[in-house]
Amino acid sequence: MKKEFSPATQCIHSGYHPENGEPLALPIYQSTTYSYSSPTDIGKLFDLTADGHMYSRISNPTVACVEEKIAALEGGIAALGTSSGQAASFLSVANIASAGDHILVSSKIYGGTTNLFGVTLKRFGIDCTFFDQDISDDELKALIQPNTKLIFGETIANPALSVFDIERIAKVAHGAGIPLIIDNTFATGVLCRPIEYGADIVVLSTSKYMDGHAVQLGGCVVDSGNFDWTQNDKFQGLCTPDESYHGIVYTESFGKLAYITKMRVQLMRDFGVYPTAQAAFLLDLGIQTLDVRLKRHCENALAVAKFLEESGYAEYVNYPGLESDKYHSLALKYLEKGASGVVSFCIKGGREKAEKFMNALSFFVNAVHVATVHSCVLHPASSTHRQLSDEMLVKAGIDGGLIRISVGIEDIEDIIADLKQALAKAFED
Ligand SMILES: *Cc1c(COP(=O)(O)O)cnc(C)c1O
Repeated sequence: MKKEFSPATQCIHSGYHPENGEPLALPIYQSTTYSYSSPTDIGKLFDLTADGHMYSRISNPTVACVEEKIAALEGGIAALGTSSGQAASFLSVANIASAGDHILVSSKIYGGTTNLFGVTLKRFGIDCTFFDQDISDDELKALIQPNTKLIFGETIANPALSVFDIERIAKVAHGAGIPLIIDNTFATGVLCRPIEYGADIVVLSTSKYMDGHAVQLGGCVVDSGNFDWTQNDKFQGLCTPDESYHGIVYTESFGKLAYITKMRVQLMRDFGVYPTAQAAFLLDLGIQTLDVRLKRHCENALAVAKFLEESGYAEYVNYPGLESDKYHSLALKYLEKGASGVVSFCIKGGREKAEKFMNALSFFVNAVHVATVHSCVLHPASSTHRQLSDEMLVKAGIDGGLIRISVGIEDIEDIIADLKQALAKAFED
C-alpha cells in the first residue's frame, strides 16, 4: 500500500489485498496452527529465517492484515495486535524495561495504565515516576535517571482531556537516548500521527474508536522503526543475544524491526495476549468506517462543548477543541482535524444536580465505556471514584459535579435537545 494514500482510504484498503477471485471481506482464519510439509519448513520458522505462521498465540493471517492496516494508519513500519489496550501498554514497556529500570510516565494518563505502571510493574521491580506533562524541558530532564528507559504519555488523555506536547517531549527523550511511547487511543492515526512528531512507539486500545461499536476489546503496538537501539548501552535486550531464542540479536537480525520482532517472538510467545481472528475481523470492520465516524464524533463533541459552555449550567467545560480550553493551542497543532469525541463538564450544584441531570437524559447510555457510536455519560464521583468521600474527591481533582460525556454519532439536534431538556429538569425546582 502506497504511504501517500490518506487515512480514509487506508482505513478501507490497507492490510488486506485480495487476489483475483478471492473474497473481498477479510477472511477469518479460525485455526490455532498451520500445516507444513516437512520438519525443515517448520525449523526455518523457528530459526526466524522464513516468514510464515506457526501458532496463533504468535501470529495469525487475519490478525496480520489488521496489524498491517493499523501500522499504515499510524505511519509506522510494523505492528503487533494484542487482546486489549492494557496488554499493549504492558508489552510496550516490558519489551525494553526490566527489574531495576525506571520509566517516566505522564500523571494524566488512563487510570488503568496508572495502576499497571504505578502498582503492578512496581511489584516486578520496574520503578515509575509520574510527571506533570506541562512541566518545562529542564524540569523533565531532571527527572531522567541513568536507568530510565522510556517516557510515556497520551495524545489526548482519558479522562483528563489534556493534550500531550509530543514533539517537545520527544526531543527531551531523544536528548537522553531514550524513546517516547505514546498512547494514541483517543486520537488514532486518523486525527493525529504521533510518529510524525517524533514518537518512537505508539500504543492503542482498539476497544475505543477503532472498534467504535463497543463489541470487542483489543489493542495494538506500532513501531516507527526510527529509534536507534544501538546508540547506547541501555537496550541490552535488543542488542545482545536472547538466550530464550537461541542467541538471536534482534538489532542485528531485524534492523529497524528489532523492537516489534522481539515483542512478538519473545514476549507474545511468553505472555500469550494475542487477539483472536474473530476479534481482528470485527476490528477491521470498525476501522473501515473510522475516518467517517471520527469526523462526526469531533463535530458533535465540539457542538456539545459549545452548547454546555453557553448553557449557563456548567461551572467549566473541558474539551481541547474549545477556544477557552487550556490545551487549545496544543490541539491546534496536533489535532487539526478535531479533538475527538469526549467532553467533560462540571454541572453547577454539584453531585445532586449531576444525578438529576443524568437520570433525566433519554437516550444517553450510562456506561463506563467511551468512544462508541452511542452517546454515553459517566459520573465519576458515583462510579469510578465512588468509594471516595467528598473531601477525598476534591483531593483527587474529581468534582462532585463532574460529568464525562462520550459524544456519539447520533443526530446533533437530538443530542443537544436531550441535554437541554435534562438540564432544564435538573434545575426545575
Ligand atoms: C481504555 C484505554 C486503555 C485500556 O484499553 P483496554 O482495551 O480497555 O484494555 C488504555 N489507554 C487508554 C487511553 C484507554 O482509553
